[in-house]
Amino acid sequence: MNCPYCSHGEQKVLDSRPARDGDAIRRRRECEGCGRRFTTFEEPEKPRLYVIKSDGSRQLFDREKLLNSLLLACGKRPVTAERLEAAVVNIERDLMDGAELEVSSSDIGEKAMDELFELDSIAYIRYSSVYRAFDCPGDFAEIVRRMQKDARKKRATVV
Ligand SMILES: [Zn+2]
Repeated sequence: MNCPYCSHGEQKVLDSRPARDGDAIRRRRECEGCGRRFTTFEEPEKPRLYVIKSDGSRQLFDREKLLNSLLLACGKRPVTAERLEAAVVNIERDLMDGAELEVSSSDIGEKAMDELFELDSIAYIRYSSVYRAFDCPGDFAEIVRRMQKDARKKRATVV
């Protein structure tokens, strides 16, 4: 790479060490042209994940936006921000593991619902009602049926 001072292309590497919690390598370099020192960071290229919205538009996956929507659903519920951040990491990893680097916003919504389902039933219902744009009481009934079915399953495995 070229020296930022004189654009000479060769350097000596004086020091290499892990940086950014091991996600990158920091190298201290000395230019063989002008002798000045500079630092480079090397890190793996992260795959970019695109979200296709229901109107067909496409945007980069925004983990903050996802986290905020979960925080909103969990308002005043006994779910810590740490657990929600872990849920976002799970969802992101799941999406990145898929063969496609384009996912639909509904895929993300379904995964978010699965995470909330495990964390807090009220937050789950809140998120579902917004995400699925409930417009009649029957929509809630369906969600409640799913929760009752799951509770029975859990009881069955305890017995
Ligand atoms: Zn130089």
